[in-house]
Formats: sequence, C-alpha cells, structure tokens
Amino acid sequence: MYRQLVYLSRARTDMTLREVYDIIRRSHTNNSRAGLTGALLYLDGYFLQLLEGPSLAVEDCYQRILSDSRHASIELRHEAARGERLFPDDWMALKSTAEVDESVLQRFGYSVGLPEGRFDGRQLVEFIQACFVDERISIVASQL
Ligand code: FAD
Repeated sequence: MYRQLVYLSRARTDMTLREVYDIIRRSHTNNSRAGLTGALLYLDGYFLQLLEGPSLAVEDCYQRILSDSRHASIELRHEAARGERLFPDDWMALKSTAEVDESVLQRFGYSVGLPEGRFDGRQLVEFIQACFVDERISIVASQL
C-alpha cells in the first residue's frame, strides 16, 4: 500500500516562480531517491501538494516540508492508503495558476485558498488530478 497525503499552505508573500522551480528541482532529486511521486500546484499564492509513496518516506518528506520557511499555515487536508499511485510517472509534477485550464477551475468552483468548508479531501484529490489532465486532449478524444 502507498500513503497519500494532501496539504495546502500559504507561500511566502515574496515567492518567485524561480524559487518554486528550485523547490521542484530539489524535490525531483530527493523524491526519486525516496520513491515518492506526486503533484504540486502553485495557485494564487498557495501551494496544494499531493505526496504519495511508502509511508515512512512520505512522513519523512512531510516533516521536512513542515519546517520549510518558504511557506506557512500548512493544513493537512487529506490522508489515505491506496493500492496505486495517482502520479506514477512524476517525481513531482508542477503547475502554476496560468497553466491550469480555466474550464477545470470553473468546473470545481475554484476559489482562492480552496477553503475547507467548500473543498473536502476527496474533492481536492480530484481537483489536483483534473489540473494535470490536458483538457484539450480530453475534448478531442471525446469527439473521436
Ligand atoms: P537542502 O535542499 O540542502 O536544504 C537544507 C535546508 O535549507 C532545509 O531545511 C531547507 O528547508 C532549507 N532551504 C533550502 N533552500 C531554501 C530556500 N531557498 N529558502 C529557505 N530555506 C531553504 N522536498 C522534497 O524532498 N520533496 C518534495 O516533494 C518537496 N515539496 C515541497 C513543497 C513545498 C511547497 C515546499 C515549500 C518545499 C518542498 N520540499 C520538498 C522541500 C523541503 O521542504 C526541504 O527543503 C527539502 O526536502 C530539503 O532537502 P535537503 O534535505 O536535500 O536539503
């Protein structure tokens, strides 16, 4: 079984995209060693991350993430044990606001900060997955 964890956090206010790419570079190095996969969304100043892999590796990584000064107000929003990974091919996929298809944001009723009252853990997982599906490919495929 794999452990899956989703958290939301507030990025440091002066965070640049370059710093986000630095985080992803380090994540790729560390995660490939630890057998972790997942996805990171950087949306309107918030991070939404799905981490998955062996339980101890997820825990170890999450503890490092918790003490990282590049973000704050970290809320654990979902945890589950799963038989399969959702992002088996990504040491850590990344999308920022401009790269997420507008239709996905509309479909999920996205609002900044993904407030807990409106997005439960399961919805967040579905939202993350949808953000990484290329909607244009889905539309073309559905017309075949
Ligand atoms: P190093 O990269 O050498 O870092 C050593 C220390 O310096 C750590 O305490 C680190 O937090 C701190 N540090 C490094 N660069 C900066 C900086 N620019 N500003 C402030 N402090 C800094 N790590 C992963 O391994 N996998 C992930 O999936 C992952 N996802 C992340 C998602 C988010 C939103 C954030 C903010 C961080 C994420 N990290 C991830 C990074 C994680 O928090 C640790 O920084 C990293 O794992 C430490 O790697 P390292 O042990 O190789 O040390």
